[in-house]
Amino acid sequence: MTTQQRPDQTTSRAPLSRVVGDRAAQLREDPELMPRLLADPATRVLVVNNASVPLADADAPVLHLATVAETGLDAAAFTGYLGRDASGTHVLLAAVRDQAEFPSPGGWGEMRLVGGELSPEHADLGVTGVALARWHRVGGFCPACGAAAELRQAGWSRECTGCGRQHFPRTDPAVIVAITDDQDRILLGNNALWPKSTYSLFAGFVEAGESLEAAVVRETYEEAGVTVVDIEYAASQAWPYPQSLMVGFFARAASAEAAQADGTEILTVRWFSREDLDDAIAGRGDIRIPASASVARALIDQWHSGGSRL
Ligand SMILES: [Zn+2]
Repeated sequence: MTTQQRPDQTTSRAPLSRVVGDRAAQLREDPELMPRLLADPATRVLVVNNASVPLADADAPVLHLATVAETGLDAAAFTGYLGRDASGTHVLLAAVRDQAEFPSPGGWGEMRLVGGELSPEHADLGVTGVALARWHRVGGFCPACGAAAELRQAGWSRECTGCGRQHFPRTDPAVIVAITDDQDRILLGNNALWPKSTYSLFAGFVEAGESLEAAVVRETYEEAGVTVVDIEYAASQAWPYPQSLMVGFFARAASAEAAQADGTEILTVRWFSREDLDDAIAGRGDIRIPASASVARALIDQWHSGGSRL
């Protein structure tokens, strides 16, 4: 099943942005595509439940991809075409409201937690399936006129039955920034919503009318009190919780002494040397850092391994 496997085409180091399969977007216009694939016993299916995916093995995360017949689901559950996997097999998306509707041998895992342990192919499929299914959950009505909006393009758009407008899955950009200083330490913060021992990078949504770079400058000043310079793009990945695109940057603090938590969203900020984070990187000690599926962790790991740039 791996004879047609394609290499990652992105060179991205973000854990969920490897391109291995083929979205085959040109096939979405065919209105017979979904019925044809639903009747084909070779078609594979990714079933998702909210932000979770079914796993084939509880110990080593592997997506549980079933065939249409094996899912036992009603045709209405199949809401999207995800393209061809690395072996060239078509993959459909199905969404269930309750995990009990699709018994999974390895249980279910949230993509934000297990995504970093999946193969690049499965990470790509999983994050795409979750993103599309979450849009379907909230996109049933036209935001302009309120009428029902029906699925089109094999689940990749909707058309309003009232005003005829076309709608597409929304993606909200957010920036996340690894700030370093002249001693090549990294600045991390503890968010008020997290346990006190958890530290991560600074992040926030891009506001209306704002560029990515301007959002980096604003968010780092608001949350950590620092003015950043030498802003450099690092990597991006979808983060559909609910519908973000995380865009990662490296930047340098003009003055390390200026770092100060905002006191509301961020309670503590702290400069860490590489040695300070050795234990956290190894998964032990008192400090916790983000899971391997996140851009935050990819940037922290990259800095810790000696290169402050991806
Ligand atoms: Zn409308």
